[in-house]
Amino acid sequence: MTTAEQRIQVLPESVINQIAAGEVVLRPASVIKELGENALDAEAHHITIWTEHGGKSLIQVTDDGIGMSPLDAELCFERHATSKIRSVQDLQALYTKGFRGEALASIAAVAEVELFTRRPQDSLGTHVVMAFGQKVRVEPVRCAVGTTLIVRRLFQRLPVRRKSLRSDATEHRHNLEEFLRLAYPHPDRHFRFYHNQALLYELPPTSLVERILALHPELSAHDLVPLEGETPFFTVQGYLTLPEKTPAGHREAYLFLNRRYIRHALLQQGVWQVYRPLLPGQTRPLYWLFLEVPPNQVDVNVTPSKTEVRLLHELEMRTLLISLVRKALAQSRLVLPVDWLAKPAKVIEPLPTPATEPPGASSRPSIQPGRAALPLPSVETHSRLSYLLLHGRYLVLEWDGEAWLVDVRAAHERILYEQHLKPTPVSPQGLLFPVHAPLSPPVAARLAEFTEPLRAQGFHLEVREGKEAVLHAIPAGVAAGAAPALLDQILALVQDAELPPDWRSQLAWHVARYGSPRPPYALSAQMVENLWTELSACSDPTYSPSGRRIRYLLTEEALEKLFG
Ligand code: ADP
Ligand code: MG
Repeated sequence: MTTAEQRIQVLPESVINQIAAGEVVLRPASVIKELGENALDAEAHHITIWTEHGGKSLIQVTDDGIGMSPLDAELCFERHATSKIRSVQDLQALYTKGFRGEALASIAAVAEVELFTRRPQDSLGTHVVMAFGQKVRVEPVRCAVGTTLIVRRLFQRLPVRRKSLRSDATEHRHNLEEFLRLAYPHPDRHFRFYHNQALLYELPPTSLVERILALHPELSAHDLVPLEGETPFFTVQGYLTLPEKTPAGHREAYLFLNRRYIRHALLQQGVWQVYRPLLPGQTRPLYWLFLEVPPNQVDVNVTPSKTEVRLLHELEMRTLLISLVRKALAQSRLVLPVDWLAKPAKVIEPLPTPATEPPGASSRPSIQPGRAALPLPSVETHSRLSYLLLHGRYLVLEWDGEAWLVDVRAAHERILYEQHLKPTPVSPQGLLFPVHAPLSPPVAARLAEFTEPLRAQGFHLEVREGKEAVLHAIPAGVAAGAAPALLDQILALVQDAELPPDWRSQLAWHVARYGSPRPPYALSAQMVENLWTELSACSDPTYSPSGRRIRYLLTEEALEKLFG
C-alpha cells in the first residue's frame, strides 16, 4: 500500500526479473550519474555536485527537489525499491531517468553514505547513515528542503575494485563527462560542479544554445547550425557544429533520447557519414541532438547504465536523421564539395524482423547488427588500432603493427563459445517477453533439476505447474531473438533420462551458433577493440567452434603468395 508518507515500494520479483541485471557502480562517475539523475527525477531546480580526489574520497550531490518522507528515506536504500515504476507495463511509459531502484542500494553497499532529506511539508528532515551496506543511524534533523547525498570512501573495503580505479585525474575526467551529459539536456536547471573545493562549473538556467556555448568557450553561436525536425518516428532538435569549426580529433558527440544520454552506433555513424567528406582526417563531428521517441518504442532496459537503448524503428530513424542533418548543413551556406548534395540518403528497405524480435536484447555493446545502410568503408583509427569493415562483416585490422583479416561473425561465435564453456557464472539479461514452451511431465521433472546449473550459465528457467517451461532470462551478450531457439536446444538436452556429460559444451555451442548477432554489422572503434581483445584471450582465436576460419595474419609473405 502506498500512502502519502510512502511513495517508494520494493518491486515484485516478477518485475525485478525483467530488469537488466548487472553492476550499477563501476567508478565515481557512475555515482555522479545516478545521484544526478535522482535529483532531476525529484524535479530539482538547483543541483550542486562536490567531488574530491576524482570522487574517490568524496562525492556529494545536493538538490532542492521534492525530498523524501522519513519512511522513504529509509526505504530508498533497499534493493529494487523505487517510487518510479510498479509493474512491467510502466516500463512502456517511462518518463523518469531511474526505474530500477538499485542505485542507492548499490552505492550504499560499497561506500559510506549519508542522506539528508526533507519534503516542503515537513518541518524536520531525516538523516540516515549507511556504511558498506549496514544501516548505522537514522534520526530527525534540521535541514533544507530537498536531498543531499554524501558518498565517502568508495570501494574502500573492496580492494580489488578500489585498485581498478584510475588516477584521480582520470576519474575526474570521467566525472566531468558524466556531469556534462546531465547538464546539456537540462539547460533549465542550475548546475554547479566543484572539485577539490574549486568551483569548475556554474551553469545558471538558460537556453540550450547558451548552455552549449557556456560549456564550449571555443565556439560561438555562428559556429552552430540549428537542427529541428518532426518525423513519423521521432522529433529531434539540437545543434550541429559547422564542419570547419569542429574541434580536431574530437571524440565525443552528444546524442540524447528523451533527454537521456545514449550511445547508438547506427544513428551516430549515420551522422558521421554525412560529415565525413566535410571533415579532415579522423576528426569526428561534434553535435548535440535531442531525439524524442514515444516511450513504448524504446527499450532502455538493456544495460544497468541505460546508455544502450533498443529502438523499434532504428533503421527508419537513421535514414530520416541523415537527411535532416544533410539538410541543416546544406542550409548553413557552407561551401559543399561537388556531389555532396546530389548523393541522396540511402533508402532503406522496410525492417524485416522488428516485430518478432523482443526488445529485451543484448546487454553487451560488442556488436550491433547493422542490417542495412552501412556507411561506405573507410579506415578508422582508434588508439592502437586501425580497421576497415568490408561488406558489413569482414575486418581488415591493424593492431600493434600486425595486419589481420577477420571474419567478425566467426570471431563472435568463438568468443561466446569460450565464455560459456567456463564454469564461471554468466550474468543474465532479463527478457522483456519471456519464452514459453509446453512440457511433458517427465521432461518437466528433469528440467526442474537442471534449472540451477542453467541459472549459473545465465539462463533463468522456470518450470510452471509441471507442464510448461518459461525462459525469463538468457546470458548477457546473447541476441534476445535467439531465446526461442535456445529454449528448444535446452529442451533437447533433457529429453534423455540422463543429462549428456558434455551438456556444457553442447550448450555453449548452441549459444555461439544462435546467440551471435547476424551480419551486416555496424561496428564502432570501441566495439572492434573489445572484439579483438576478447578474441585474443580465447584459447583458439583461429577457428570458430564449428571449424570456420576466424582470422588470417596478413604477412607480406602471405600477400605475395596470394598475388602469385
Ligand atoms: P530509482 O531512481 O531507480 O527509483 P534509486 O535507488 O536511485 O532508484 O532511488 C530510490 C528511490 O529513492 C527513488 O525511486 C526515489 O523515490 C528516492 N530518491 C532517490 N534520490 C532522491 C532525491 N534526490 N530526491 C527525492 N527522492 C529521491
Ligand atoms: Mg535513481
